[in-house]
Amino acid sequence: MAVLHAAEQLKAKGVDVADFGPGEPDFPTPEHIKRAAIKALEENRTKYTATPGIAPLRQAICDWHAAQLGSSYQPAESIVTVGGKHAIFNVVCSLINSGDEVIIAAPYWVSYPDIVKYAGGKPVILETRAEDNFIMRAAEVEKLLTPRTRMVIADSPSNPSGAVIPPEEFQKILAVCQRRGIWLLSDECYSHFTYGDARPFSIASVPDSKSGVIIVGSLSKTFAMTGWRVGYVLAPQPLIGAITKLQSQSTSNATSIAQYAALEALRGPMDSVHTMLAEYTRRRGRILTGLRAIPGITCTAPQGAFYVFPNIAAKLNAGMPTDTHAANLLLEREHVAVVPGAAFGAPGYLRLSYATSIERIEEGLRRIARFFA
Ligand code: PMP
Repeated sequence: MAVLHAAEQLKAKGVDVADFGPGEPDFPTPEHIKRAAIKALEENRTKYTATPGIAPLRQAICDWHAAQLGSSYQPAESIVTVGGKHAIFNVVCSLINSGDEVIIAAPYWVSYPDIVKYAGGKPVILETRAEDNFIMRAAEVEKLLTPRTRMVIADSPSNPSGAVIPPEEFQKILAVCQRRGIWLLSDECYSHFTYGDARPFSIASVPDSKSGVIIVGSLSKTFAMTGWRVGYVLAPQPLIGAITKLQSQSTSNATSIAQYAALEALRGPMDSVHTMLAEYTRRRGRILTGLRAIPGITCTAPQGAFYVFPNIAAKLNAGMPTDTHAANLLLEREHVAVVPGAAFGAPGYLRLSYATSIERIEEGLRRIARFFA
């Protein structure tokens, strides 16, 4: 946050910043979705809705998830939340008690450990390896189990590493959780941005998985709707009931107009998603080639999301001892904004988002190469 804040200040002064910081699509929300929101406004759909969301949207979430990812949920097993982060917050606050342990793979999305701590739980960090493409492995999950383990969080595709858990491995993680009677929370926020051999996959498509699985999804990335704040949980009905109670005493429903926009997103064509994926694919190729051409920098090929996570450990020295120093210096000297790996529990790395144009990527790569030279 400190680096990104400094980048914003530079931009406000008119400095030309090559910004690889933001964790959100640079595309606008597709037209047909915006039109649905305008129509909802004109029709005065501006009142409270039911806490778990309007009925057609809950149905559309189940239908979309079934069609796209092969699950079989009923509307009673769904709740609409104020974004995916809120969905995770509601799940964790509903299930995690003081001292409960939650297994989280590092590099991790920054909010997981803090949400677990807020609920009084203890984040237990599973270290993944770059040589293994940062994949969370069932055998490693097993090693960290204790009588206090209550949940495993799987983030695939991962922010920040882009790691995708192969379906066979995901099923092994599920088997470990089922054997021990612990929850498997699957964060599917980047589900539709996969590359190479990786395909969108949901653990909820596996037969007999549903009783121990919690799916968290979001329209933010898939439909370029970060500001609208719409996400969801798919889970066994008693848990949805508990989350509904919590949500009814905190945020109440997600914004009514945003729910109608989300309805159109999920019922409408998926063309815009495919167009964005094609563009991300092109950018990913360019940024990977550019970073790997810099002597001393290594970078695994991310299988999903829209981030690269290069290792810069070989470039650190007495004058620039950590990735945080590197990020600060990159901004100061070359006006390039990146996020230090330490923020994600992975010192020695940087996270670069390629949700920015090819031209900006080219410019940023030139500056990064000059900096490390
Ligand atoms: N999960 C992951 C892994 C994310 O990166 C994000 C957003 N950066 C979210 C969940 C939440 O996104 P939102 O609240 O916008 O749905």
